[in-house]
Amino acid sequence: MIIVLRPNIDENSVEYRRVMDYLHNKPKIKTRLHKEVGAHQTLMEIYLIGDTAGLDKAEVESLAAVERAVRIMDEYRIIGRHQDDTRSTGFEYNGVIFDQNTLNVFAGLCAVDTPENVETMMRALKENGQVCTRMGAYKPRTNPYAFQGLGKACLPWVFELAGKYGIKVIAMEITHDSHVDEVRQALEKTGNPTGVMLQIGTRNTQNFELLKMVGRQKEFPVLLKRGFGITLVESLNAAEYLASEGNHKIIFALRGMKTNLGDPHRNFTDFAHVPVVKRLTRMPVCVDPSHSVGTRERDPEGILDVMHVAAQGVIAGANMLLVDFHPVPAKAMVDGPQALLLKELPYFLEDVNIAREAFEKRGILLKKFRTD
Ligand code: PEP
Ligand code: MN
Repeated sequence: MIIVLRPNIDENSVEYRRVMDYLHNKPKIKTRLHKEVGAHQTLMEIYLIGDTAGLDKAEVESLAAVERAVRIMDEYRIIGRHQDDTRSTGFEYNGVIFDQNTLNVFAGLCAVDTPENVETMMRALKENGQVCTRMGAYKPRTNPYAFQGLGKACLPWVFELAGKYGIKVIAMEITHDSHVDEVRQALEKTGNPTGVMLQIGTRNTQNFELLKMVGRQKEFPVLLKRGFGITLVESLNAAEYLASEGNHKIIFALRGMKTNLGDPHRNFTDFAHVPVVKRLTRMPVCVDPSHSVGTRERDPEGILDVMHVAAQGVIAGANMLLVDFHPVPAKAMVDGPQALLLKELPYFLEDVNIAREAFEKRGILLKKFRTD
């Protein structure tokens, strides 16, 4: 069972003590407090571990400090959407709201290469009203001799350029514990001009020690990519690893599955799972059309497959898009063949808006016709 306390309850208040006394008097029940300090309010949840079957939900809810109690299933205890679980989803980070109702676009470079390309990208984002981007500094590569990313050396100037162009959140993959410290130190050194969402890539979805370590820090939110060769359940359990260590600010990304059945695309697009993840969990869902499709192929009308797939994710209710752009794709160090051009950015964003409007209209249509 999870007990959700009323917002801004003080841990020294009589009401709070009463809840704790009530629980401590119950045999075989342990409590674990989760506190989320937001810009506007502090939210607290008490996780009950042990023999909770005998607890009276109504009695718990009658305590003054309690907003509601939620009975949880065994699976996805923290990230899960349990029966009658109306708790709000998502979080705010650096002024940007991420939840199952919003949509944020992270267009940017697969891999950071030169300051000129980063600045050109950031400028284009600002000109198009964007406050989020993707910038890979640590690149997990199949070939050990391939470009591995500029690493910590590029962080200060990437963060400074982000600040210059009003970028609030950068999705950045990390592949090792030490990268989190490097990101934190570079942000501090440059005066925190931007924010970072730590990305755990598809090759690390089940790197449990990395998940635990990233889950233990609460400063940065986490973008977890689905493992490209494991089941959805296995990938959702990876998200639960992060949450079980204390970090609940998690976005789950679909990025395509590895199988030749998806040929000629690089991966087999799995965006039909957008509503599934939203139903099973309270995490916002991201789609990555670039790593799914992997090329700049077009349909006979001329629409890029990457744009089609992005639209398919958005029309199904995706909350975030992670998409590769590059000022000169032919010169990109990583994934140039799938990158969109900067002149395509306004077109891409407009196309995404069309898909989003269609998704919203589908919601209105449902309200009119739903009978169950
Ligand atoms: C990426 O987003 O740059 C990336 C490497 O993605 P994935 O982990 O999905 O392959
Ligand atoms: Mn890539």
